[in-house]
Amino acid sequence: MSDFHTYDFSGKRALIRVDFNVPLDKETLEITDDTRIRAALPTIQCILKNGGSVVIMSHLGRPKDGSENRFSLHHIVKHTSDLLGVPVQFSEDCIGPEAEAMSANLKPGEVLMLENVRFHKRETAGTESFAEQLAKHGDVYVNDAFGTAHRAHASTTVIAKFFPNDKMFGLLLEAEIKSVDKVLNSDEKPLTAIVGGAKVSSKITIIERLLDKVDNLIVGGGMAYTFVKAMGGKVGNSLVEDDYIDMANKIITEAKAKGVNLYIPTDAIIADKFDNEANRKEVPIGEIPDGWMGLDTGSETSKACREIIANSKLILWNGPMGVFEMENFQQGTKDVANAIVEATAKGAFSLIGGGDSVAAINKFKLADKVSYVSTGGGAMLEYLEGIELPGIKAIREH
Ligand code: AMP
Repeated sequence: MSDFHTYDFSGKRALIRVDFNVPLDKETLEITDDTRIRAALPTIQCILKNGGSVVIMSHLGRPKDGSENRFSLHHIVKHTSDLLGVPVQFSEDCIGPEAEAMSANLKPGEVLMLENVRFHKRETAGTESFAEQLAKHGDVYVNDAFGTAHRAHASTTVIAKFFPNDKMFGLLLEAEIKSVDKVLNSDEKPLTAIVGGAKVSSKITIIERLLDKVDNLIVGGGMAYTFVKAMGGKVGNSLVEDDYIDMANKIITEAKAKGVNLYIPTDAIIADKFDNEANRKEVPIGEIPDGWMGLDTGSETSKACREIIANSKLILWNGPMGVFEMENFQQGTKDVANAIVEATAKGAFSLIGGGDSVAAINKFKLADKVSYVSTGGGAMLEYLEGIELPGIKAIREH
C-alpha cells in the first residue's frame, strides 16, 4: 500500500470511496446532517491542493432495485461543492462510457461525483467485473469510507486489487484506525470502557474482547438488567435477555479472574411504562417492582462512573446508559458524557465509537470536547470485536 501523506498526486486522478450516506429529509430531500461529508473534506482538499483531480464514489441508502430518485447522490452535489468551494461535476451513472469520458477529461483541481454505486446490484455482491469498471475512473484508489469498511463490496474492497501499487487509506480512515489502536493497543493505563445500549447479545463479543484489555468495564443501558438479574436482583419489567444470564455470570467470573473492575449500575430511574411522560422513581437497581422498568441509571451510578472515568487515561464509550432519546431518561447518559469531557480536558484520550453513543454525544453538543468521535457505526463495532475489516485488509495486503 502507499502512504497518503507522501504520495505524489500531481496530474493523477484519485478515485476516492467516501461514505456520503447522509440522512435526507423525506419530503424535501435536503441533507439533514452533513457530518459524513465534512469528515471526508480534508482528504479531497489535500489531493486537489497537491495537483490531483478527484472522482468521488459513494453509496446512499439501500436502494433495492436500480436507480431511485430518493437515493440519488445528485442531492448531495451542490452542498459538497459549497463545502469544497469548487464546482462538482456529476455523472448519472457510476460506470459506462459517459462516466468514463467524464473522469478521463478531468483536469487537476477538478472534481467529479459518480451516481450511487448501489444502483447496481453488483456493488453489494462484490462482483469483480463491476469493480474493474469502477477502477477505470482513477489512477490511484483512496479508501476514506470507514463506515463501509466492514463490507466486502465492489467499491470498498474488491476494487483495491486493480491498484496494486497505488492504493491507500484516506485521512479519515487513517484517523479512525489510529484512534481505536491508541485505545486498545497502547500501554497507557487505566483504560476504561463504557459499554451500554439495548442488548447484551449484540455487545457480547466486544465485552469478551475488552476483558483482556481494560482495567475498568462499566456496563450500562438495557443490557445492565441481564447482569442484575444474573446477580439475583429483581428487575421488574426491565429489558432482560434470559438466554444471556449464564453468559452474564460467566463475564462476572471472568472479570474477577482477569482483575478487571466490572462496574454494574447500582441504582436506576424506573418508569411504569416506556414513555417519556411515565411516572418515575429512583430505586436500587436490584429492587425494581413488577410493572416498572429501568430506563436510565440513577445518581449513585453517575457518581461512581464519574470517579472511574476521572481516573482514566484512555476511555472508550460505546452505547448509552439509558433511553437517552427521551428527555426524562437521558441524565445517566449525559452524566457519563460530561465525565468523559472532564477527563479529556485533563489529558485523557477518549474515543466515542459505535452507534448510539455517537448520537448521544452529538445530541448533547459535546462532540468537539472529546478526543475522537467515530463516523462508522457497524464498522466500529466489528473493529472493536477484533474482526479484520475487509476494506482495510484489501488496502494492506499485497
Ligand atoms: P445499541 O444500539 O445496542 O447501542 O442500543 C441503543 C439503544 O438502547 C438506544 O436506542 C436506547 O434507547 C436503548 N436503551 C438504553 N437503555 C435502555 C433501557 N434501560 N431499556 C431499554 N432500552 C434502552
